[in-house]
Amino acid sequence: MTPHLILTNARILTMDAAHPRAGAIALAGERILALGAPSVIEPMAGPGTDVIDCKGATLLPGFVESHLHLIFGGAELSHLHLTGIEGEEALTRAFRVFAEKHPDRPLLMAQGGHYALLDHPMSRHDLDRMIADRPIAIMAHDHHTVWANTAALKAAGILGGLKTPPGHEVVMGADGLATGELLEFEAFAPIVAYNGEARIGLGIATGAEPSPWPADAEMAIDRRAAAAGLAHAARHGITSMVNMDGNLYSLELLRSLQKEGGLTARVKVPFHFKPHMDLSELDRADHMTRAFNDDWLTSGFVKMFMDGVVDSRTAYMLNDYPGHPGQRGEPLFPGPRFNEIATEIDRRGLQIAVHAIGDGAVRTTIDGYEAAQRANGHRDSRHRIEHIELIDPADIPRLGALGITASVQPVHAPGAMDFALEPTIHTVGLDRLKDAYLCRTLAEAGAPLAFASDWPVTDINVIRGIGAQMCRRPYAAPGATDQRVSLAETLYAYTAGGAWAAHREGLVGTLRPGMAADVVVLTGDIENTPAEEIASLDVALTVAGGRITWRA
Ligand SMILES: [Zn+2]
Repeated sequence: MTPHLILTNARILTMDAAHPRAGAIALAGERILALGAPSVIEPMAGPGTDVIDCKGATLLPGFVESHLHLIFGGAELSHLHLTGIEGEEALTRAFRVFAEKHPDRPLLMAQGGHYALLDHPMSRHDLDRMIADRPIAIMAHDHHTVWANTAALKAAGILGGLKTPPGHEVVMGADGLATGELLEFEAFAPIVAYNGEARIGLGIATGAEPSPWPADAEMAIDRRAAAAGLAHAARHGITSMVNMDGNLYSLELLRSLQKEGGLTARVKVPFHFKPHMDLSELDRADHMTRAFNDDWLTSGFVKMFMDGVVDSRTAYMLNDYPGHPGQRGEPLFPGPRFNEIATEIDRRGLQIAVHAIGDGAVRTTIDGYEAAQRANGHRDSRHRIEHIELIDPADIPRLGALGITASVQPVHAPGAMDFALEPTIHTVGLDRLKDAYLCRTLAEAGAPLAFASDWPVTDINVIRGIGAQMCRRPYAAPGATDQRVSLAETLYAYTAGGAWAAHREGLVGTLRPGMAADVVVLTGDIENTPAEEIASLDVALTVAGGRITWRA
């Protein structure tokens, strides 16, 4: 067989322990044909072979982004982005410039706001001072809170409040009207819907399918959002991804892109199980798993949220938040109920991924996985926990013992990349920081690691993420330790580790003949770049399924 593409003169890190390094790789169709020294691979070229000289740069398996939100991330690319914007004056200016640029938008949505953007908790009155005559809103960077102005609350029909399930809240003021602070997905779903993004918000908000099923024109709008997300991911070297919200509609959108040749990454999409659901709704997860099972689109797992986030104190803790007696958040699934659900999902042969941020949520989730194993026996389930921002030391060895993947985002640690130290570290409490945002400690205790950005929660840029991981400093807090892992472990967690955590290690994450032709070439040699300069490297070339999806 003649390769259609040869990448040579590269420093190839294969993630294959038997043959860890090579200098050239030959791709034929959607698969890897051969790896070896340039003197062995280059002569394989035929008249139609494209040969690319990588000039000594690092070549890796295409990145596996283990936790992201592809479709609404794609839609958000056109929103106002607040990274680097601080204080009322700068925020006002940003909104007014954006308003002028977009006179026809029903709502001006900003992304990336943080909880200390103003020097006091944000209300609709603050936003009204910036723009009063048009609906505006700010999504918190963690995507668990929205702040809206009066016009937006009115337009979305929630100025007078909204009945929401436990854990989701339209915060009400003494005047009987909404304050503008909307906690969790179902509280701000009407704002998202008013902005025309209801359909693509369902995967995270309720897990339901759009009803009625979208017409072709509506589907085309949503397909554009997915395509924008995929292009953004390809530009950053990502060739596989685990979407962390979903429904059948998400998969159908991606399948229609696939048919047009526009699917540039392999995507795994979950069924989202919500607290109000009956166990029989898991039939929908089975259906998604059966209907989508090729090299590019798969399901096979169920996503759940056990709690919220630290900054809004909706994360479920084992102890009260410092300075807030009686407040420790709540589990969205009480322990016995979660045990029953986890056991049933596991019995169906599906994988489980639970968002658990507080140490109480993490423990409840581990207990459920343990209950499933007790009931169903040990199987290759690879259940995973997403985030693990705080963990009780007693629970650390349980991850490895039960084979639970720590799907963590080193870039989410306050101070590591784009998230400020405050208000998070004081909300967690300085004396608990030694057990917060752990990475090395979890790995040393035997937990498999998968790294991710949780885009659009943080920058999708994997190389920036690697740099941030390598440069993270221990917290100035009692007992806090260095939580970095080595460069080799970091690259593994962004490739083979993520592939294993997604049950895709037979196809992606490792460069070996017969594996998927998914490759990323960097602009330099990452192993010989000082940690603090890694973030200045970039992606030179992305290849997914043998096809170039990005070239600088
Ligand atoms: Zn997420």
